[in-house]
Amino acid sequence: MPQYKVGILGATGAVGQKFIRLLQGHPWFEIAALGASERSAGKRYSEAAQWVESTPLPGKIGEMTVRNCQSGEFSDVDFVFSGLDAAVAETIEADFAGSGIPVISNAKNYRMHDHVPLMISEVNPEHIELIRHQTFSSDGSGWIVTNPNCVVVPLSMSLKPLHEAFGVKSVVVTSMQAISGAGYPGVPSLDIMGNVIPFISGEESKIVSEPLKLLGELDGDRVQNADFPIQATATRVPVRNGHLLSVSVNFHEKPSGVDAVISAMRSWKSPLSDLGLPSAPEFPLYLYDDERYPQPLLHADEERGMRTSIGRVRSDSVMDVSYIAMAHNTVRGAAGGAILSAEFLASKEVLKQKQPA
Ligand code: NAP
Repeated sequence: MPQYKVGILGATGAVGQKFIRLLQGHPWFEIAALGASERSAGKRYSEAAQWVESTPLPGKIGEMTVRNCQSGEFSDVDFVFSGLDAAVAETIEADFAGSGIPVISNAKNYRMHDHVPLMISEVNPEHIELIRHQTFSSDGSGWIVTNPNCVVVPLSMSLKPLHEAFGVKSVVVTSMQAISGAGYPGVPSLDIMGNVIPFISGEESKIVSEPLKLLGELDGDRVQNADFPIQATATRVPVRNGHLLSVSVNFHEKPSGVDAVISAMRSWKSPLSDLGLPSAPEFPLYLYDDERYPQPLLHADEERGMRTSIGRVRSDSVMDVSYIAMAHNTVRGAAGGAILSAEFLASKEVLKQKQPA
């Protein structure tokens, strides 16, 4: 696989820093440019960013000069990852795509755009077909692919085999979301320590809509969304990393019992398993038998944070089945998921190296 030169937009933020950490030593992707707001542009990265990752800031990255997020300043990269604030992502990402620089984004702005894939590589790899219908750039060389919301990742990963096997009829989900999901410094410590906050602004509308696109059928130049209601309650809990979800599901075709549900999850085979992608987990969906698991503190980092962990699959007197799902919100739910999407797009030769001018 050739080496790609990569830019990171929003490189100083929580997601941007996670991109930097996860891309260290990546066999295909080399960080060539870092962008942030005009507050940071022109400064050395080590001065502009308050580094919050647990591993030291790589010296070479610290010495790089932060650029303005303008496509003209990124002509030396093959594509960019975006961890931009949603308030600015729409204009900046369109500028990059319009200039022939593909964007793989964590921001919400283009997730529901008809021709933009909202991607979890294991769930809907066929949706990359939508890219051909994008018109951001006149010659199709620039395009946008998005990552879902960080709760939607474990929810959709867990629903995928169940929807295939039984047809999901309705879902009730309550999320217990880690503090790191709110960026840095995020939620004030006095609000969250020893507490649960039963509301996260703007979160529930994403949880009820994005899985329907992810689990939808590709139909020509758009996706026919899956058609089932989701009732969501999003809460913030005093956990550092790892969003944990309590999920209950009703099906169109009733499973013969809880064992049939477990078997559908266990026997599901990831479509990425034979592609040799560097960030793909061996077990994208892992079921624990121990009723105490999964737990964010113990399991969020399993398989480099790329796994969706499932536990407590049980029958239910109200819905057909209930279970717990959990994934690392800034790795699998953000930067790591975007890197996996880029690897998948590179393996399909949708992501290309720039031809020398
Ligand atoms: P963050 O820590 O607030 O970082 C925001 C980044 O955007 C910073 O690099 C900031 O640069 C940059 N920025 C702000 N205004 C800008 C402008 N006018 N021009 C260019 N750059 C600008 O946010 P985050 O938590 O990393 O989240 C980033 C994105 O990912 C958001 O859209 C968020 O919704 C999404 N997301 C976050 C998570 C998570 O778990 N945190 C998960 C999934 C998706 P400066 O430092 O120069 O201000």
